Amino acid sequence: MPKFYELSREDRIAQLLADARLSQAAATHLLANEPLPEATAAHLTENQIGQFPLPLGVVHHLQVNGVSREVAIAGEEPSVVAAASNGARMANLGGGVTGVAPDMHVVDAEIVFANAPEVATVVQAHRLQIFTVAESAHPSIVRRGGGLKAIHTDTTGQFTKIILSVDVQEAMGANIVNTIAEAVAAYLEATTGLRRLFAILSNYSEQTTRAEVTIPHAALATKQATGAHIAAQIALASQFAQLDVSRATTNNKGIMNGVSGAAIALGNDYRALEAGVYAFAASTGTYQPLSTWENSEGQLHGVIELPIQVGTVGGAIGALPLAKVSQQLAQITCVREEQEVLASLGLVQNLAALRALVGPGIQSGHMALAAGSLAISAGAKGSEVTVLTAQLQGKKQSLALAKTLLAQIRQQ
Ligand code: NDP
Repeated sequence: MPKFYELSREDRIAQLLADARLSQAAATHLLANEPLPEATAAHLTENQIGQFPLPLGVVHHLQVNGVSREVAIAGEEPSVVAAASNGARMANLGGGVTGVAPDMHVVDAEIVFANAPEVATVVQAHRLQIFTVAESAHPSIVRRGGGLKAIHTDTTGQFTKIILSVDVQEAMGANIVNTIAEAVAAYLEATTGLRRLFAILSNYSEQTTRAEVTIPHAALATKQATGAHIAAQIALASQFAQLDVSRATTNNKGIMNGVSGAAIALGNDYRALEAGVYAFAASTGTYQPLSTWENSEGQLHGVIELPIQVGTVGGAIGALPLAKVSQQLAQITCVREEQEVLASLGLVQNLAALRALVGPGIQSGHMALAAGSLAISAGAKGSEVTVLTAQLQGKKQSLALAKTLLAQIRQQ
C-alpha cells in the first residue's frame, strides 16, 4: 500500500475523507482548488489586483495530547512539510507531543503618556470607572466571559504606561484590545486632562505555550549512525544554540517554518505571532533558542516554549474557507488547542532539522525536494516537471544544468 506522501493529491484527499479527517464539503472544496470569491479578495486588501496562491501541504499524523492530527501548512519551501512529517513520525514513536497552553488567553494594551508622573495615582482613583468603560467599549467580549481583567502602570524615564490585560477568549484580540484601549484613553483624557501619546495592543507576551516530547534512541537512528549517537549530538547542538546567537537565530527560524506556515493556513496574523515569538526569544537579554534537547537513559527529551498569539475566530479567519478546513484537519476546537498544536509542530520540525544537521546534513534532503522548484524555474511544464525533477536527483543542481537537461528531454 503506498505511503501518504506517495499518493496523488486527489487520493490524499480521498484518504482524509475516508478517515473522517475531512467533511465531504471540505473535501469537495479542496478538490475544486477554487480561488477566493472575488468579493472576499476585494475586501481583504486595498487596491486588490489578483490573488497569490501558495501550496497547502499537510503534516500527516502529528500526535498532540493523545490526538492524531493532520496539520496543514501553507508555504513555498518544499522541505518544510516533509521535515515536519518526519519529525512527527519520530515523536509518535515516543508517544507523541504533550502541549500546555496558558489557562487564560490574555492580550495586553499599552496606553502611553509622556511627562505625566501622576498617571499611576489617576489610575488608582479611576480604577472602577476604567473597568466600566472597558466593558461598555466591548460588551460582547464580556458576555463571552472575557474583557478587561487587570490594570497595571509602569514608568520608564519620562514615559508612564497603563497596561490593560484583556481576556480575548477565542479571538487573537488585536481589534478587541485596541477598541478597549482607545476608549479607556479617551475617558481618561476627558476626565483628567491627561493627553496620551498613543494607545495600542502589544504583540509581546510572556504567556507561553509549552510542548515536550520524549523519544527513544531507536527512533532516531539513521543509515549511518545509531540513535544513541544522534541523540547525543542533538543534545550538544542544543547546548551550542544556547551559547551562540547565530545558531539560535537559525534554530528558531527552522521552528517557525512550520509554525508560521500553519498559522497562515489557519487564517491567522502570522506577523503578530512572529513578532511575539522573536521578542520572547530575546526576553532574557540574550537571544535564546525556543527549544532545548537533553539526552539521558536511552531517550532524547525536547521542550519548546513560546508565546502564540493566535485565534480561532475573528480577523480574516471566517472569511478564508481554507482556514476552517485547516482547523478541521488538525481537530482544533479552541484557541488553547490551536496553541498546543502549533507549539508541538514547532518542536517536531526542530527535531527533524536537528537530526538531519547532526546526521547526513541538511542539504541532501533539501536539494532532493528543491529539485521540483528548480525544474519549474527552468521552464518545465506538466509531466516534464516530474521527469526533470527525477533527473536532477543526486546531481550538482543548478539552473543551467536544469535547462540543459530540459532541452535534452524535449529532444527525446
Ligand atoms: P475581530 O475584530 O474580528 O474580533 C473578534 C471577532 O470574533 C468579533 O467579531 C467577535 O464577535 C467574534 N467572536 C466570535 N466568537 C468569539 C469568541 N468565542 N471569543 C472572542 N471573539 C469571538 O478580531 P481580533 O480582535 O481578534 O483582531 C484580529 C485582527 O486584528 C487580525 O486581522 C489582525 O491582523 C488585526 N490587527 C493586528 C494588529 C497587531 O497585531 N499589532 C494591529 C491591528 C489589527 P463579537 O463582535 O460578537 O464579540
